[in-house]
Amino acid sequence: MKKKIPVLRPKLPDAQSLLPYLLRTDESRIYSNFGPLAVEFQSRLAMLLGVAPESVISASCGTNALIAAILGGAGVPTNSRPYAIIPSFTFVATAIAAERCGFQPYFVDVDPNSWTLDAFKMLEHPILDHAGVIIPVAPFGRPVLQQDWLAFRERSGVPAVIDAGASLSCIIDDSHSFIGSIPTAFSLHATKSFGIGEGGCVISTEGDVIARVGASLNFGFIETRDSAIPSLNGKLSEYHAAVGLALLSCWKEKWATVSRVVRCYRDEFGRHGLSERFFSLPQIDGSYALFLCGTGKEAGQIMSALERDCIDFRLWYGAGVHRHTHFLNAARDDHLPVTERLGCTLIGLPMAPDLQLPDIARVAAVVSSTQY
Ligand SMILES: *Cc1c(COP(=O)(O)O)cnc(C)c1O
Repeated sequence: MKKKIPVLRPKLPDAQSLLPYLLRTDESRIYSNFGPLAVEFQSRLAMLLGVAPESVISASCGTNALIAAILGGAGVPTNSRPYAIIPSFTFVATAIAAERCGFQPYFVDVDPNSWTLDAFKMLEHPILDHAGVIIPVAPFGRPVLQQDWLAFRERSGVPAVIDAGASLSCIIDDSHSFIGSIPTAFSLHATKSFGIGEGGCVISTEGDVIARVGASLNFGFIETRDSAIPSLNGKLSEYHAAVGLALLSCWKEKWATVSRVVRCYRDEFGRHGLSERFFSLPQIDGSYALFLCGTGKEAGQIMSALERDCIDFRLWYGAGVHRHTHFLNAARDDHLPVTERLGCTLIGLPMAPDLQLPDIARVAAVVSSTQY
């Protein structure tokens, strides 16, 4: 029996590195409500990204960050604009967040090259007149350019909120292309490479948008205890902020470690002549290693071979959100061919910061022996 290789084995800061922060919490006796650790996490994250500290607000998870970004950045639906336009090629959380804000999801297809919405194509879409928000997604952390959606917003008048998912790790070196006035919600879930357990944040260069998002994350309270706007409780706890601070302190090392794993993967797939079909950092977040198959049939054969070899894999987004039970009757375009094809041909391969070369070689060998 071969050793099983799990599809994803995250590694977050260890207990020892959390201790100094936990001791500070023992002292402050502040455990949530944008306490000292959460506020320090926000400003150190802002510094890393080269934006003002008022541009970043932390949240208890990526889904709540997105809900608050929609409420604070686009508001709630109206009778004439009940829809949230969502790419079906995403994690279900995008649609769930829109629905929790009162919008009806309307699923559209993605561009075959960028795997996300095409802003210029969307300007022509007939549903636009009935949409209260559009939510472009960074699939697998592949970052979404601000400028496309600024132009879209200006020309259509429809607010955009970006579900930036796992893309925090991918924007650090070029944050100004990916951060701007459009509110952008990130997930800091354990499975993303910038993971802190459960957590998220919203970033926008417009301070008043972030102030409103912050109020939406905190019962709608703006300065007083009066619930003034649509809201939820989506605040980051001080315990998770401690993980965030510890992660910031070791981020360079973590990034280097993940980069080494990705380099090994690239070398192995390169030896088999398959470099073009392998996707990982820096195109997408380092928590994913994706192999793009030519056809669904080829994908089926590769998945069977991986299974025989005890190598775990995942079709991360399934065949699209519109295929999930709860969303089967949701409004959508009749045909979503790119979503359905990517959904069954982009195979998530094993990834971990400490994945070893022999395991990587085994994965690449099984994949290459099967494709035709
Ligand atoms: C991870 C992810 C989410 C959900 O974030 P949570 O922190 O798990 O709530 C939403 N959208 C995308 C694109 C994601 O990758």
